[in-house]
Amino acid sequence: MTTPLLEVEDLRVAYGKIEAVKGISFTVAEGTVTTLIGTNGAGKTTTLRTLSGLLRPTTGRITFDGHALGSVPAHRIVALGLAHSPEGRHIFPRMTIEENLLLGAFLRKDPGITEDVERAYTLFPILGERRKQAAGTLSGGEQQMLAMGRALMSRPKLLMLDEPSMGLSPLMMQKIMATIVELRSGGTTILLVEQNAQAALSLSDQGYVMQTGRIVLSGTGRELLNDESVRKSYLGED
Ligand code: ATP
Repeated sequence: MTTPLLEVEDLRVAYGKIEAVKGISFTVAEGTVTTLIGTNGAGKTTTLRTLSGLLRPTTGRITFDGHALGSVPAHRIVALGLAHSPEGRHIFPRMTIEENLLLGAFLRKDPGITEDVERAYTLFPILGERRKQAAGTLSGGEQQMLAMGRALMSRPKLLMLDEPSMGLSPLMMQKIMATIVELRSGGTTILLVEQNAQAALSLSDQGYVMQTGRIVLSGTGRELLNDESVRKSYLGED
């Protein structure tokens, strides 16, 4: 078996006395889409924020592309190739769409930035059409595209997406999911956190189910889609 791009071992994360992540272990293989599903408060966002260096683990090991990340600062983690498109998008509404994209390349000094802005416009044509407009004028789905486009501007090896379909119309959600598949075909590895378990597991190579800070189940996307407890708890079946 090849070494995974990301390996998380016995990770624990606490907010003061409250332990939100209680010793989880999982891997993300290169070139795959891996999904974390789980109910509200399960610890998915906390996990992603820890991986990108915004929170510090109490214990555990995170190895990304051969680097131990435990105490690496967030900007260095981006430079190593791990990008995060956060829950709630966090775009800058008064800046233009193009300025928002360029912020995603702030650590880069190479000449390929303009080319990558154009690549984002190819991926999401609406962003190109409105490049000079304030980002706050975009719809929710378009803002999600911008957040993904911005994260891609660091040319990540691993792109983490936190709830990319939240609040989107079914059509827009389909577009975002199709883009995830397209990115994987282009060689980007993706770690996805999603409430929409059906859509996420359908396209995932691997999935993990989190419950109150622990991973309680794992399997391929298809295995989890067929699992009775997953169907009951996350796919709305009786
Ligand atoms: P959601 O889908 O609702 O975002 P989640 O699985 O991403 O859920 P987290 O946001 O990681 O879950 O939250 C895990 C636990 O940590 C919850 O009990 C939450 O209340 C708690 N928590 C999250 N952020 C903080 C914080 N800043 N301070 C204290 N507790 C927090």
